[in-house]
Amino acid sequence: MATATATMQPNVKIGPTKLLINGKWVDSVSGKTFPTINPSTGEVITQVAEADAPDVDKAVAAARGAFDKGPWRKKMSSADRGVLMNRLADLIEKHADELAELEALDNGKPAHVARAADLPLTIACYRYYAGWADKNHGKTIPVSGNYFCYTKHEPVGVVGQIIPWNFPLLMQAWKLGPALATGCTVVMKPAEQTPLTALRVGELIMEAGFPEGVVNLLPGYGPTAGAAIARHMDVDKVAFTGSTEVGHLIMKNAAETNLKRVTLELGGKSPNIVFADADMDEAIEGAHFALFFNQGQCCCAGSRLYVEEKAYDEFVDRSVARAKKRTVGSPFDKNTEQGPQVDQDQFNKVMSYIDAGKKEKAKLVAGGNRVGDKGYFIEPTVFADVQDNMKIAQEEIFGPVMSILKFKDLNEVVERANKSQYGLAAAVWTKDISKAHAIADSVRAGTVWVNCYDVFDAGAPFGGFKQSGIGRELGEYGLANYTEVKTVTVKL
Ligand code: NAP
Ligand code: MG
Repeated sequence: MATATATMQPNVKIGPTKLLINGKWVDSVSGKTFPTINPSTGEVITQVAEADAPDVDKAVAAARGAFDKGPWRKKMSSADRGVLMNRLADLIEKHADELAELEALDNGKPAHVARAADLPLTIACYRYYAGWADKNHGKTIPVSGNYFCYTKHEPVGVVGQIIPWNFPLLMQAWKLGPALATGCTVVMKPAEQTPLTALRVGELIMEAGFPEGVVNLLPGYGPTAGAAIARHMDVDKVAFTGSTEVGHLIMKNAAETNLKRVTLELGGKSPNIVFADADMDEAIEGAHFALFFNQGQCCCAGSRLYVEEKAYDEFVDRSVARAKKRTVGSPFDKNTEQGPQVDQDQFNKVMSYIDAGKKEKAKLVAGGNRVGDKGYFIEPTVFADVQDNMKIAQEEIFGPVMSILKFKDLNEVVERANKSQYGLAAAVWTKDISKAHAIADSVRAGTVWVNCYDVFDAGAPFGGFKQSGIGRELGEYGLANYTEVKTVTVKL
């Protein structure tokens, strides 16, 4: 493992730092601001306007106005919406280098990784949903009697969207894509840790020519601005990505107010199952990627790594060697594979899980310490001989901590894989097609990868079984959450 290089940092351009309401950049009603931190150093990058309930009221009124009276739905065709979305995708592409660097500065992920993964996926998502704008139509239904019956897919209305910090640009695209394609208007709260790229995209949204009030952006804190969105009586739907704990709160807030529609993309503890007959080179590198990608801060991280007994010792040894080779350092260094965790809280949380693993006598075989004395860097860490009942095998760590468990046969591993409150993703590594299908069939998870991991496409739906969420994002399925079906029956 390379040590954290000093904070080599190019001159990253910082975009807007205010609230975007009704097409204008404004201070918060309270005048308050909050700092956004550079996780590589712990230093303040800049102050950002802090939204709270009165700003949510203003933004919801703007979104309601744009929905009820603005050109968005009164003058523009659905194809026109697609044109604007494609224009936004083009602008993001034009500024991709700049956005990747800003993401690296605010979030800590390596800029070259953001440029190669987050940016292309973000751009593809806007383009994919631009294509849907004029294609999401209803049906004609052959009802009994002399009637003509048809359905329309109408936009659900004003949508509140609360997004996390692990993939700021991409989560913004996953949320805005289907909302804009279906003709909704949006009040979005980016995560407090990473507001800067969302706000820069806000600038590009206005440059693309979206009517004012269609997209409103409110940086701020969850318990204040976020809760105000979830409780607002004039928000028709709330879409949330983040922890399962806050997911419960979002549903409760919706239930106690106006029964706004709720979709949730929450945590996971995804089983990654390696059979002894797998291509070991691919399985070892794949399992490494499945856990350590994005500093381990992935909702679908392969964080319960089950390895068949016959291959276990070799697998552990080689996984340890791979983890020790992982380069940790400045997000602006092209050789860096792993940057810092996003903030002090996440750093503390991950370190406390490492302590828990040691206390419960899992075998610490790599890492376990912080890197350097500045910023939130953690060594790629591997625990072997992890047991199902240990804390590190049950709870979401959201950091660079791999837990390896041993299994004997297929039925046993399926049963153990499914003993979880979560059901977001799973993977299986094997050359035996029957085993692959058996796992794909029996694991209770929204996504199953076979001999691969973290393969995403704007067309392929993503979301969780059980407490990993409600609803699906991406693909055609993702549109349903943003529309109401209207049935029209006409006497002939
Ligand atoms: P979090 O609290 O769930 O944050 C996600 C978003 O929800 C942020 O925008 C957050 O605002 C907001 N929020 C927080 N409390 C809220 C409330 N009462 N009402 C409405 N919105 C609220 O997640 P976190 O604290 O950043 O991270 C904690 C854990 O969540 C992680 O360790 C990880 O296990 C999980 N997580 C999962 C994902 C995922 O992709 N599924 C992403 C991030 C985190 P703030 O900006 O104030 O936090
Ligand atoms: Mg930050």
